[in-house]
Amino acid sequence: MEWLEYSHANTMRRLGTKIITVRVGEAGSTKDFSVHEELVRANSPFFEAALGREWKEAVEGVVTLPDDNPEIFGIYVQWLYCGQIFSQVQGKEGEKVDAARWIEEWNRLDQCYALGDKLQDTDFKDCIVDASMEKTRWDKLEFLGFGPIIYTSSAEKSPVRKLPVELALRWPDSALEKYCIQQRQPHDNFTADLMLALSKRTQAERNSPCPYWSDPCRYHEHTPLNKPCHKTKRGLTR
Ligand SMILES: [Zn+2]
Repeated sequence: MEWLEYSHANTMRRLGTKIITVRVGEAGSTKDFSVHEELVRANSPFFEAALGREWKEAVEGVVTLPDDNPEIFGIYVQWLYCGQIFSQVQGKEGEKVDAARWIEEWNRLDQCYALGDKLQDTDFKDCIVDASMEKTRWDKLEFLGFGPIIYTSSAEKSPVRKLPVELALRWPDSALEKYCIQQRQPHDNFTADLMLALSKRTQAERNSPCPYWSDPCRYHEHTPLNKPCHKTKRGLTR
C-alpha cells in the first residue's frame, strides 16, 4: 500500500505539535477551533501571513475571523484533517431531498468556496469543486445556479470558470430557457462566456459528457500553478 504510506508521511510531516486557536464568528457567538499550526499554515497563505510574523496573532496563538461562519469553518477544519467535505443533508443515493435542504447544501458549498478563496487554500477550493460535481451526480440533477456562484467567488482567469460553461453546453434547450427565466439578475461575465460558448456549440459536444468526468484537473486551480492535485497529495490517485 504505497499510497497509504505516502499519504501518512505527508500528513504527519505537516501536522507539527503546536496548536493554535481560531476564533470564528461575531462577538457574543464565537466558536473556538483548535488546529495544528503547521498544518493550517502549510495549506493557507492567509494563516501563513497571520502567524508567520511577530504579530499579536503569532504571539498569542489566536487568530480571529469575526466575519466568518463557524459552521463553514468547521467544514474546513474537518477537511484539513481528513480530506473529506461533510456538507450533505440527504439520506440514500438518488433519494428525493426537499428543496429547502437541497438549496441549503448548495449554499454551504458556496460559502465553503468563498472561505477557501479568503484563506487562499487552492486545494480546498478544488476539493469543493469536486464535491459539487459529486453532488450533481448524486442528485441526478445539475444545479443551474452553479455558474453565478463560481463566477462570484473565482478570479477572472481561474480554470474553474470553464466548468459551468462546459456543463451548460450540455444542457437541453429547455434547461437553458429555464435558467434564463430563473436568473433575475444574471451574472454578466458568466452569461457572456456562456453565450460565446453556445454560439460555437457542436452537436457532438452537446451529446458528450462534460470533460470534468475524464479530467477534473482541467478545472482545478493547481493546474496553472503547476502543483500536484489535492487528490494526489491525499493519496487518492496515482
Ligand atoms: Zn486536480
